[in-house]
Amino acid sequence: MNIRNWLNYIDGQWLDSEQRLTILAPATNQPMATIAQATVAQADLALAAARRCADSGALTRPRPAQRVTWLLRIAEEIRAIADEGARILCAENGKTLRDARTEFVEAARYFEYYAGMADKIEGRSIPLGNGYMDFTVYDPMGVSLQIVPWNFPVSICARSLAPALAGGNAVVIKSPELSPLGLCVLVEAIERAGLPQGAVNLLCGRGREVGAHMAASKQVDQIVFTGSVPTGQSILRAAAENAVPSVMELGGKSAALVFADADREQVLSSVRDGIFFNAGQVCSALSRILIHRSIYDEVVESIVQLAEGLHLGAGEDNADLTPVISAGQLAGIEALCRTAQAEGAVVATGGEALSGVAGHFMRPTVFRDVTSHMTIAQQEVFGPVLAAIVFDTEEEAIAIANGTDFGLVAGVFTQDLNRALRCARRLRAGQVFVNEWYAGGIETPFGGVGLSGYGREKGQEALYSYVRTKNLAVRIKGEEGSAS
Ligand code: NAD
Repeated sequence: MNIRNWLNYIDGQWLDSEQRLTILAPATNQPMATIAQATVAQADLALAAARRCADSGALTRPRPAQRVTWLLRIAEEIRAIADEGARILCAENGKTLRDARTEFVEAARYFEYYAGMADKIEGRSIPLGNGYMDFTVYDPMGVSLQIVPWNFPVSICARSLAPALAGGNAVVIKSPELSPLGLCVLVEAIERAGLPQGAVNLLCGRGREVGAHMAASKQVDQIVFTGSVPTGQSILRAAAENAVPSVMELGGKSAALVFADADREQVLSSVRDGIFFNAGQVCSALSRILIHRSIYDEVVESIVQLAEGLHLGAGEDNADLTPVISAGQLAGIEALCRTAQAEGAVVATGGEALSGVAGHFMRPTVFRDVTSHMTIAQQEVFGPVLAAIVFDTEEEAIAIANGTDFGLVAGVFTQDLNRALRCARRLRAGQVFVNEWYAGGIETPFGGVGLSGYGREKGQEALYSYVRTKNLAVRIKGEEGSAS
């Protein structure tokens, strides 16, 4: 691939900067492109452009059907560039070409889905008796700042951008330094849909510099952040200064509960998708598997066989297990594996990086004999590393599953419907899967409890994170009525 120099999209123009960030391909560790490193001054330009757009009413004065048209056009443009975008995303991110393409298709689906809602954001009428008419309307927030992580940059960006535009907001997207290029392709497609100037801005810059600067800006009316807990906490502190509402999608340490009657095929295919898909760099990864003692050895053994049968390779070859994003990420994963062993967990397979290769490949790893107080059972790894924990009773399984600071998703594997529903009710998580990890889709509300964050993305529910309720109370002359 030719080295291309990518730009940032601010106020309807693609802008360069003096400094550039180099993007390394995870599969080879070689430079593949550069991107303009946005400055704080450019971040301010982007926020000002979004402010002008939001305040001008360009997004809200036309009938809502206009926003439906824009969103559907965006979806069409994204579908048209899905193959090109997938090649770039695959190369910069390390994920498979197939999964990279899925991200673009999913992005298009978000725009179609929220297009269907853009002209149905309806308020309520509230009876106050004679003399009054009262009703609610939904106003847009105004300027929505959306800070995006590197693991699924395109689909996570679309997940917030589509409902924000549907609600009539102007948006500034802060792309992740390690994987910003797919978002440039996405925004090139959005540009062709002909939205008002300043409605969508995209910039890549250092998180601690331009990200932090924008999070603290008074120009921002809402912050949507997806990323790590420490970054989320620092953004929340900045948002608190201006009392800016935020949606926080943070990390997880999600558990699957596997009971003795679980369908083994469903368990294995869920483990494969749950912890080895995207090299385990998934916030809602199945990173802990809690297995009933009567089947613990058997299930762990079949997971080890599954892991050892995975082919490690580059994303463009659609390998079973692809590289992790960076050398730093790989070092962090290996460090957590060493801690796990020091604390008494046993490596059933993997436990270290693949040696003798240029790319950042982590071996698929399964730890057995993990207990819930160990670091490997408490801390997010964000890599292809599974912790297997034994349990004896349903009560104990629930306690272990709920025994971390996180609460993003959870899963129950059993043929017993009553048990599944009992557990689902008691699991502290924003989503619970029964017999298939990642069951659900863009239609199903997603978000966390505890350190996994708050607010909901996806589904109809998410739209209401992007608008605020205004109540209109009208006094009708000539009608009797009491004021209270
Ligand atoms: P990160 O927190 O390092 O970075 C996320 C984004 O924040 C990047 O764009 C980065 O530039 C920016 N940023 C960094 N410091 C900032 C600051 N001080 N102020 C403002 N912005 C700043 O996270 P990451 O490494 O990109 O992603 C991995 C983490 O994200 C994992 O913990 C994972 O669980 C989480 N994640 C959560 C979800 C979810 O939906 N819950 C989805 C994907 C990833």
